[in-house]
Amino acid sequence: MSAPAITTGTELPPGPREHLTSDSTRRILRLQNSFLRHARDFLREAGFMELLPPIIGPVTDPGIRGAKQVDVDFYGHRYKLMTSAFVYKQTALLAHDRIFYVAPNVRMEPLETCSTQRHLAEFHQLDIEMAHTSREEVMDLAEGIIVSATRALIAESQDDLVALGRDVDALRAMVAAPFERLPHADAVTRLIDGGHAQSAAAEIDWEGERILSDGSARPVFLTDYPKGSRVFLEREDSERPRILRTFDLLMPEGYGEVISGGERESDYRRLITRMRETGENPSKYGWYLDEVKKGIPPSAGFGLGIQRFTRYLVGADYVWQATAFPKLPGIVSP
Ligand code: AMP
Ligand code: MG
Repeated sequence: MSAPAITTGTELPPGPREHLTSDSTRRILRLQNSFLRHARDFLREAGFMELLPPIIGPVTDPGIRGAKQVDVDFYGHRYKLMTSAFVYKQTALLAHDRIFYVAPNVRMEPLETCSTQRHLAEFHQLDIEMAHTSREEVMDLAEGIIVSATRALIAESQDDLVALGRDVDALRAMVAAPFERLPHADAVTRLIDGGHAQSAAAEIDWEGERILSDGSARPVFLTDYPKGSRVFLEREDSERPRILRTFDLLMPEGYGEVISGGERESDYRRLITRMRETGENPSKYGWYLDEVKKGIPPSAGFGLGIQRFTRYLVGADYVWQATAFPKLPGIVSP
């Protein structure tokens, strides 16, 4: 393996003792713990049940922008570590119609992402799925979780935020107004008008996300991604062909994407078509497609990157600061 392309000025995590005993790590982990507590309370009050997340399976999320999956040997069968548990959370709605996981994900991100400040090879998602609902309802849910948890943290944990150098007024501004909602096509126009080359057919690139979220005091939901830019699970709008019922959430101040989500395809035939269109072989998805064929509830949901959101919340330079045992792409670590 060649050496990772570490940009000059990129700070790498220190050893575990130095990292875990530093004043800033301790404060960040404390804030992350409080965020999770508030998010769980919010979800339970809204009727959600927390399930324990699957970690390995015959298939996992293929839509991971250049990252590789990790194989594990399962009694002679090639299984994968979860890059995201989406096939499980959609199917888990057979047990209860509002569920969530705090789920570990492993993605062998490209070596150059070591210096993006926002990529880990191992991270966690607050992974939420809700039956019989719309994208708009789950966007409201995401906004509700973020606003209520952030308000509570501003009230309870100002000392930690201030000690970390967080601009608490920026957090107050974030929770003060409804989040912006911007269709992908308008985001592309905004970027191109501002001199940034952005393909209209692809997800907004990292620099584009940074520009959009830098120029905004409040979070932005990017909606309506074009077909082809996302994984097969994302449902196509029945009234607007080639537009997906998706969203991402970008946090302000340049922090960029912390959530991806949307409405899911749950119709067997359309799902097979979407798989073929996105270059996936349906025969790999045996158990999942069997269940879809028998019927699973239509749903919408999202995954919030916990370390990414924590980085925003505490104003950290690097996403690895928001995890106790950071694993950066290509870096040998505990
Ligand atoms: P995705 O399904 O790729 O959109 O991932 C869902 C969420 O997980 C993203 O919005 C991020 O918040 C988070 N995430 C994805 N990849 C990484 C990574 N390599 N390191 C840290 N967080 C990530
Ligand atoms: Mg995403």
